[in-house]
Amino acid sequence: MDQLVNFLARHPHIHYSTLSSPDFDNLRRGYVINDTIPAMVVRPRSGADVASLVSVLKANDLPFSIRVGGHDMFGRFQVKDAITIDLREIHYIHVDRDSQTARIGGGVLVKDLLQELDQHGMVVPHPVISSVGFVGWATHGGYGLLSAEYGMGADQILQAKLVDANAVVRDADEDMLTAIRGGGGTLGVIVELTIKVYPLSQILAGFIIYDSTDLSTTIKRYNDAYRRQTEEGFPKELNTFQSVINSSGSKVLAVLFVWASSNLKEGQKWISKLLAWSPVATSTVLPTTMSAFNESTKTIVPTMVYGRSLTISLRDLTSEVVDVMSKHAILQPNSPATMFGMHELRACAPQPSLSTVIDTRCHHFVLELLPTVQDVALLNAALVWAHGFYDALLRTDSANILTSTYLPLTEPSKVNMKGIYGEKFETLKRIKRQYDPDNVFKLALVQVR
Ligand SMILES: Cc1cc2nc3c(=O)[nH]c(=O)nc-3n(C[C@H](O)[C@H](O)[C@H](O)COP(=O)(O)OP(=O)(O)OC[C@H]3O[C@@H](n4cnc5c(N)ncnc54)[C@H](O)[C@@H]3O)c2cc1C
Repeated sequence: MDQLVNFLARHPHIHYSTLSSPDFDNLRRGYVINDTIPAMVVRPRSGADVASLVSVLKANDLPFSIRVGGHDMFGRFQVKDAITIDLREIHYIHVDRDSQTARIGGGVLVKDLLQELDQHGMVVPHPVISSVGFVGWATHGGYGLLSAEYGMGADQILQAKLVDANAVVRDADEDMLTAIRGGGGTLGVIVELTIKVYPLSQILAGFIIYDSTDLSTTIKRYNDAYRRQTEEGFPKELNTFQSVINSSGSKVLAVLFVWASSNLKEGQKWISKLLAWSPVATSTVLPTTMSAFNESTKTIVPTMVYGRSLTISLRDLTSEVVDVMSKHAILQPNSPATMFGMHELRACAPQPSLSTVIDTRCHHFVLELLPTVQDVALLNAALVWAHGFYDALLRTDSANILTSTYLPLTEPSKVNMKGIYGEKFETLKRIKRQYDPDNVFKLALVQVR
């Protein structure tokens, strides 16, 4: 530790914070509240800073983790007594409209990226909540809005600069890029990504809140219609995210609607269609921009919660699954932050044109059960509800349940790397062995042995 302190004294532009610093608590906080106290939070400002830092940490055998948005549901960006490398000061964004690419720092948050892209009339696939870090989202796969048209987060990554296991800033070669597209920070600290971006200024977006006086019937009606439409086909411009949230003391089916095309007239037809699927309480769908809409999705989740996530990936929302959803939606505790929702990778989503270790590309749904609360006294009830819901889902037709789960939302004890990465796991292992044989990045979310 003395060597690290000496290093920081010689590099005063690198800010750091320890337990006695006034900003320590603020800096160590993430989306999920926990009491993990790292030894120090260090905030490098460039790739070169990260390289010298990793060199000192490695030479002195000091364990370190990486953090950006702090949205890991299990707080794994921080480890007791280890050093947290907080990349949020590496937040530059350079958009090149001609090549339809953006070069972004490793610490960029989704909301800042969307805002900057908005200035250029561009968009990129992204998560539903914009306080998430872009690299953490995209490099672990990245389910998101606009994926039906443009693919998953990992598919947007064209180039990467990382601080590797030798503590050197380097451009990722093809093998490294393959692993970064799904393997997160397992090969190093990603200090820069070059990503694809797409021209799009105006969209239609908002929430459709269905009348949920009889929530169970509403969920069944919506999903019957959704299933019929899936058979007929959805346009790739249409993105939805179905959730059951607690709003003003009651549970409602809330569907996030995004029509990602400048053909707003066609989008209006699709809103009308969805509004007819079940009686509607309110709809906020309006012409807007992606960035402005993402600012508004902040309202569905608090900035900090107690709790965790449970997740299961399903091929289809069969009537058996919808029955389970309807039953457990009614049992959902009334705490404002407790909810469930689902991401979907549509059959029409483009297959990756760049090599990746994300193997699960069939049409599927990622159900996320969120036993999250703001008042810790309510946590137990939320966990009991979520586990009951999860166990009931596990009892549905096993042929409909994928072995692959979405790693960032999977409870650490349930992570099955072979299941998650499927046939690509061997590729990931080979690349890890080649580039980080001593497992310098052993606290990365993706742990490959
Ligand atoms: C409210 C909420 C909404 C979400 N919505 C979605 C969604 O719509 N779709 C979806 O697919 N996922 C979603 N997620 C999951 C989220 O994308 C992942 O948990 C992601 O890893 C979070 O990244 P972060 O930077 O915010 O978090 P952190 O906790 O800061 O980072 C998580 C881990 O990612 C790695 N990492 C992050 N940045 C770097 C880097 N630059 N270099 C090396 N390693 C790095 C590190 O291992 C780090 O521990 C959501 C999570 C939450 C809490």
